[in-house]
Amino acid sequence: MSDSAGKERTPSSAGLDAPPSELLATVMQEAVTEGATDVHVDTWGDVAMVRFRVDGMLHERHHLPAAQARRIINQVRVAAELDVEATIKPAEGQFRWSKGEVTRDIRATILPTAPRNEATHLRLLTTPQDWRDAEHLGLLADERQAIQNVLNETHGLALIAGPTGSGKTTTLYALTGLEDLVHRVAVSIEEPAEFNLPHVRQLEVNPKRGITMQEGLRLLLRVDPDVLIVGEIRDPHSASVAAQAALTGRQVLATIHGRDAAAAIHAMHYFAVPYYILGGALRMVIAQNLVRRLCRACAQPRAVSAAESRLFGQAGVNPPEKVFEARSCSSCNGYGYRGRTGVFEIALLDDEFGLWLADGQPQPEIRKRLGAMGIKSAATRALEKVAAGETSLREVARLFWSTLADVRVPLSLDGSAPAGG
Ligand SMILES: [Zn+2]
Repeated sequence: MSDSAGKERTPSSAGLDAPPSELLATVMQEAVTEGATDVHVDTWGDVAMVRFRVDGMLHERHHLPAAQARRIINQVRVAAELDVEATIKPAEGQFRWSKGEVTRDIRATILPTAPRNEATHLRLLTTPQDWRDAEHLGLLADERQAIQNVLNETHGLALIAGPTGSGKTTTLYALTGLEDLVHRVAVSIEEPAEFNLPHVRQLEVNPKRGITMQEGLRLLLRVDPDVLIVGEIRDPHSASVAAQAALTGRQVLATIHGRDAAAAIHAMHYFAVPYYILGGALRMVIAQNLVRRLCRACAQPRAVSAAESRLFGQAGVNPPEKVFEARSCSSCNGYGYRGRTGVFEIALLDDEFGLWLADGQPQPEIRKRLGAMGIKSAATRALEKVAAGETSLREVARLFWSTLADVRVPLSLDGSAPAGG
């Protein structure tokens, strides 16, 4: 494998060398070994592609004849007990893959695509031990304790914010592990419920069965809940129910789309929740993203440029002498990174903040005030992880480009080590 400096490295795509009856098994084995969360198989005429999503990034893994890909898709149909004759219809199902000690549940979707191709998506569902332990999220011990204190209060709204794919739902589920749910009635509305949560009555949005988000929330509030979990706030109704429930003595946990805590608070207002209600209801906003962890076996150190040093300084992080770049080796399967870790902006909001917010505040003012309260942004947390050698500047720039651009420091992104030119 070439090791030229600079570019993002990915394992090279190759054909798939396996006996016909073991094509799916071989792909699954590779996906599990490489830590993929998703497998995509697409056919285009005579050719096909198998791609893996690993740590949020999509990589082509196999380039193969379409006939071989169709065989894989048919093996998915058999495994998920789908109708093998009905190849012109979209189909959804689930199956379990096991080998030795390892067992994974897979959600499969098969789509007939125009003109006469097929595509399938396999989602490798996370195993419970991956998410139940809040420590695995990347929270520091004092952060975890502070969050737990808020969750032990009897009422209030806690929002978990982030862009798509930032791990919000995982955090939402992990937070339930920090609560005493044996002595509280906990209910959730989700679409879909990804895992079974111990001690939580989980309701799935399913319009075919008459359970819309609105109807589900109405039902849940009638069963005497102490804790209400809303999978995602994405409309004015769920926003207003979540805020009102928090004001009337419930603990409410919900995720919402937003790049940081200020954006999440503003999103609630955008969903027509008045600021005086929000000011009274909000107790905590956790805004997060996931950064890929550098492979320890092959990461390469390099000196920090003056501009990069200034970037660290302006973000309030002690500039390190060296940062690390992703390379490529067999222990990371050529990806240069292994696994991801969360970076969190944790805004604990007191009554004083609530009263200030109740007057109505523009988003930049909210952001400014949170900064003045000493709350570190997720981008700053990510730069701390660069300084600690856990991730690369390139990875942080990929996720936080717009935030870092605010700092107005030219960030050297060619990533070339001084020795390599
Ligand atoms: Zn490596």
